[in-house]
Amino acid sequence: MKKRVFSGFRPTGKQHIGNYLGTIQNCVSLQEEYDCIYCVVDIHALTTLENTDILQQDIHEMVLDWLAAGIDPEKSILFIQSHVPQVMELHTLFGMVTPLSWLLRVPTFKEKVKMQPRNVNYGLVGYPVLMTADIALYKGEVVPVGEDQLPHLELAREIVRRFNSLFGPVFPEPEAKLTSFPLISGLDGTNKMSKSYNNYIEIASPPQQILERVMTAVTDPARRYRSDPGHPEICGIFSLHKFFTLDQVEQIASDCRSARIGCVDCKKLLAGNIASNLAPFREKRAALAAKPNYVTEVLTDGAARAEVIAKETITEVKQKMKLI
Ligand code: SF4
Repeated sequence: MKKRVFSGFRPTGKQHIGNYLGTIQNCVSLQEEYDCIYCVVDIHALTTLENTDILQQDIHEMVLDWLAAGIDPEKSILFIQSHVPQVMELHTLFGMVTPLSWLLRVPTFKEKVKMQPRNVNYGLVGYPVLMTADIALYKGEVVPVGEDQLPHLELAREIVRRFNSLFGPVFPEPEAKLTSFPLISGLDGTNKMSKSYNNYIEIASPPQQILERVMTAVTDPARRYRSDPGHPEICGIFSLHKFFTLDQVEQIASDCRSARIGCVDCKKLLAGNIASNLAPFREKRAALAAKPNYVTEVLTDGAARAEVIAKETITEVKQKMKLI
């Protein structure tokens, strides 16, 4: 029997190339080896969102991107966190076995307090408890994480372990599947690609828009004139060529160093390759978008399948806790 993977994603709207080359491609490939449950964590999003006007639109666009990129609803369960309400119950029950001191020492809680001092809500401190409930409700055994998320998963393991030792074994301790997501440079030349820095290229963009975005990218600051030799190793455009221009990477590096290619031509080449590489994705996305209720149907079916597992787990938990 395949092990069960659980992974949750905040709804961030249309996905960018950084999401695609990192998380999305990884999730698509995990479907072959694992029984995967992928969850849009809309409740988690509320810990930092003060305005939810575009929440539904963000969920729809993100899920459309995921489906077009290869998340297969026949193989995996794809659903929205709040549509399976048992997660809120398990969150509350886990809250009773989680010492507050464990939560207050989480570094991301301290960072969030600094980032949004006017909105230090309970959800921020309870975030790791809800995250544990997300995984444990579906008895997730494997959680794909980057190195920076390991402390969160360790806390989830501690909470589950504590529950099991107090009430008897119910949950597997989720294992980390350490994944080295490629660091994709943003168009600003300094930060990783992210919506927060407005330095991204959306994967659903048409070719002309990809070109326009790529042309805004900051390159090697040493190349002030076309004849200046460049340093591809510090250029974000070159780092993207490594993914989209595989067969010419060495040539581009050499041409950049000897100033045989200028940044404008180099960017045009990259934009064309991104556009052609993502053409099958765009076609599939357009076909799925043309089916009026497709995303809703996938998410409704996903929630129904997830809820079957959730109900079994929550009954078992209540029995162990002598609540029923
Ligand atoms: Fe970057 Fe290409 Fe310009 Fe070299 S030629 S600095 S790799 S954009």
